[in-house]
Amino acid sequence: MNFSELAKPTASVTDKFGRPMRDLRISVTDRCNFRCTYCMPAEIYGERYEFLPKPEILNFEEIERLARIFAGLGVTKLRITGGEPLVRAQLPVLIERLSGIDGIEDIALTTNGFLLAKMAADLKTAGLERVTVSLDSLDEEIAKHMSGRPYGPERTLEGIEEAARVGLDPIKIDTVVQRGINDHTLVDTARYFKERGHIVRFIEYMDVGNRNGWKLDQVVTAKEIIEKIGREFPLEPLEPNYYGEVATRYRYKDGSGEIGVIASVSMPFCGDCTRARLTTDGKLVTCLFASSGKDLKSLMRSGASDEEIAAEISGIWSKRSDRYSELRESNTEWSKRNENGSRPKIEMYQIGG
Ligand code: SAM
Ligand code: SF4
Ligand code: SF4
Repeated sequence: MNFSELAKPTASVTDKFGRPMRDLRISVTDRCNFRCTYCMPAEIYGERYEFLPKPEILNFEEIERLARIFAGLGVTKLRITGGEPLVRAQLPVLIERLSGIDGIEDIALTTNGFLLAKMAADLKTAGLERVTVSLDSLDEEIAKHMSGRPYGPERTLEGIEEAARVGLDPIKIDTVVQRGINDHTLVDTARYFKERGHIVRFIEYMDVGNRNGWKLDQVVTAKEIIEKIGREFPLEPLEPNYYGEVATRYRYKDGSGEIGVIASVSMPFCGDCTRARLTTDGKLVTCLFASSGKDLKSLMRSGASDEEIAAEISGIWSKRSDRYSELRESNTEWSKRNENGSRPKIEMYQIGG
């Protein structure tokens, strides 16, 4: 699909490649109740690991203020993420504050689902529209291995059920695929959620950060994933829903729903990447694979006005030329050689995917 065929939304700020800033992913905590092997390996993030101290973390007033400024610059969608966003105290209070911001059309949340069953109703009441729930396998042992915790998929599945019951839909299920780990369970995952009408999105394992030991040969490409599922359940491609959609969509030919693949490694989608990210400690990051971000928290806490902060954000976005995945793809030898130790990169749990 050539995205230039889709209408590009107008926005007040665009980057060096003409990409507007439409989405803001807000990481509300760097802590997590899981230790997924590909994100926060337990051997690194052990008992003694020091997460951000409370004074470094943006409070709700600060998050709301920044979100409002971003909305004024063209952002229409917010995604709340982490770490695990549901471990942040009083999260529904934040959602309620964000849902009152002019210009914000959509608020979503990405969660591992462990605490979702008890929080779904409050989140919905607060104004959350939909959830994406991460679940890598329905197989008890594989789920435990990948989550780095002695939890099978049950609690997450209960969370999904409750989210559906309270109307946090469409529900998307994100499944990171790792060769030799969970790739033999993808058809089971597809079948289970096909029967329940939820959209599974299979994500190619990415070289985010420097700590998960990523290797190119652990990546199962979107093409392989689609072939594997298509052999069991015939599929046909679908058009993107909107400009900048990260997943490539397919529908089941029997009309029972759709799946997606997020092919960040084999088919990069930098060309229409409209996503800005705000870390838990208030840094603006313009690419998932960035080494650092601009410290908006210090600017804000030093007394800058909304206009000054907006000017800073615009200035950063207008100079943005990130296209890490395209550069990686154009030189897979480079990826193989460097694996994920090539240069310092922010870790996934700090920017939330
Ligand atoms: N804790 C929440 C969760 O797991 O949904 C939100 C934050 S998590 C960092 C966001 C998403 O990033 C999850 O769907 C997770 O599976 C995905 N993710 C983390 N590390 C990844 C990697 N190396 N490659 C691909 N996806 C990854
Ligand atoms: Fe936690 Fe999500 Fe990272 Fe897993 S992927 S360790 S649930 S932040
Ligand atoms: Fe966007 Fe960076 Fe990912 Fe490319 S690599 S799609 S610029 S976040």
